[in-house]
Amino acid sequence: MRVLNFGSLNLDHVYRVGRFVQPGETLSALSQKVLPGGKGLNQSVALSKAGARVYHAGCLGEGGKMLEKLLSECSIDTRFLRRVDEIQGNAVIQVDDEGQNCILLFGGSNRCVTKEQVDATLTFFTEGDFLILQNEINLLPLIVDRAYERGMTIVLNPSPCDESLKDVDFHKIRWLIVNEVEAEQLAGSMVPEKAWGFLHEKYPQMNLVVTLGAEGSAAFSDSGTVFQEAFPVHAADTTAAGDTFTGYFVAGLAEGRRLEDCMERASMAAAISVTREGAAPSIPKRSEVDEALLKERKAGRL
Ligand code: ADP
Repeated sequence: MRVLNFGSLNLDHVYRVGRFVQPGETLSALSQKVLPGGKGLNQSVALSKAGARVYHAGCLGEGGKMLEKLLSECSIDTRFLRRVDEIQGNAVIQVDDEGQNCILLFGGSNRCVTKEQVDATLTFFTEGDFLILQNEINLLPLIVDRAYERGMTIVLNPSPCDESLKDVDFHKIRWLIVNEVEAEQLAGSMVPEKAWGFLHEKYPQMNLVVTLGAEGSAAFSDSGTVFQEAFPVHAADTTAAGDTFTGYFVAGLAEGRRLEDCMERASMAAAISVTREGAAPSIPKRSEVDEALLKERKAGRL
């Protein structure tokens, strides 16, 4: 099964600082790195490492060549990337001595998706193919409408959660994947069962996954409910835990796995990713997830 990810590509400028810069102040950073990022890119990498056949559509701006290279190195099809005359989407991230961060995001090229690009990309996909979306690009409502017309299974990770989502037709979304904060924003409750109650009544065709950080995750669908505990690990860096979870979960769905399997694999992949530094490089390969799950089974923990 093919998975189209119409999503963002970012250059993350990460500045190490003793403390965050204050209003009116100039502060020297201790170090600076430019790393690949964006929820779209991270989820494509996770999908591909999980074994899915992934097509990443989006816009490549000035300075974004390394992002295309990374996608290609991860066996992701980049034919639907369009070059645009705009600076690559980027983030300025300050990380302080305690490991806390604050992030300034600039959409740049990620906001340059055109109607023509959406139409040309979606004609390639058919019934049964998956579409995954986050909320870091423009024209989300149009992409959802076109994909729905083509019978694609639409998965939405509505992050960051903002006003623009009100134009998306949620009746066309098959799977909504949210964290606790987004559950509260979209469904009025952080409690997964309550969020499900609200959403299921409003959008009966929609299935829901709520991720709860170290507390695990919960999935609600026509075929039942699954509560999945997080695998206990020493967390070094939780960046991209949610993206790793989402990529592995959708790859499981696209392979036709049972809901329990999808949740277990997504949870193990995310647990491994939090033991490692960084975003895309922290995402484990399918063989590592298989091996770790086998070890848990042999130890009688699953
Ligand atoms: P987001 O980063 O999008 O807010 P979460 O923090 O809910 O997402 O994390 C997504 C998933 O990653 C969780 O449901 C869990 O499976 C896994 N995870 C996150 N933090 C940890 C942790 N400290 N230990 C083990 N697994 C974790």
